[in-house]
Amino acid sequence: MVGSDPCHVLDQARFPTLTPTETLEKVTQFFAPFCRAGQVREIGIGSFGPCDLRRASPTYGFITSTPKPGWQNTDVVGAIHSALLVDVILDTDVNAAALGEHTWGATVGTNTSLYLTIGTGIGGGIIVDGRPLHGLQHPEMGHIRIPHDLSRDPFLGSCPFHADCFEGLASGPAIQQRFGRRGEELADNDPFWELEADYIAVAVSTYILVSSPERIVLGGGIMQRELLLPRIRQQVIRLLGGYIRHAALTDSIDNYIVAPGLGPQSGVFGAIALAATYSHQA
Ligand code: ZN
Repeated sequence: MVGSDPCHVLDQARFPTLTPTETLEKVTQFFAPFCRAGQVREIGIGSFGPCDLRRASPTYGFITSTPKPGWQNTDVVGAIHSALLVDVILDTDVNAAALGEHTWGATVGTNTSLYLTIGTGIGGGIIVDGRPLHGLQHPEMGHIRIPHDLSRDPFLGSCPFHADCFEGLASGPAIQQRFGRRGEELADNDPFWELEADYIAVAVSTYILVSSPERIVLGGGIMQRELLLPRIRQQVIRLLGGYIRHAALTDSIDNYIVAPGLGPQSGVFGAIALAATYSHQA
């Protein structure tokens, strides 16, 4: 997407993720005329990960240990910068989405917020004082361990690294492997959705205890299933057991755990916000 904010979008395009060479070539071809015309001076990227985000690292801007075939150790920032000669700012797709929501969406005005996507994968980004939280690399909130009652859910999990971590139990591929069909094909009254909401609620209540966000946004394809959000809210309250006494939880949980304000475009607008936030530091 080329633009400066959700009200000023010049152009946009969508490409499937093929090999790194094919994909990055399509990306640079799309942006090249805007860069030549001086309309684009910075490019923000919200990428699948894991990525190396440490500016001082020799592999800064690389996608590192991803299971995605062909993408291990791909220098995304270097490839786009050398083709277009503009500043390139990389972060994870979920950190970008968290920043997009913080800048224009559901978490405007908060200091600390959390965006979680539940879809093909599960991941989250935390914004602290207007910036995505980084550390050794970046949070990997989809891969936490959550209680797994094998008598209620005998599925052993789909994560290639941890089997029954949160992503291994509750992501789209986990649903597909568990039932042999996609989540979209399960009826609203399928008892699985209660289990799914319970898994998400366990994770969300853990994130609340760890990072104390002022608001939480739940996005991604699976969260399109509208019946999930009310049960997640109810289960989060139950799991926290009255320990955190704040009006956000006790009086207005419906405004505390919310859907994305930018709909499915939190990430792409977040990439624009990334470029704006970091452009003077690159
Ligand atoms: Zn995992």
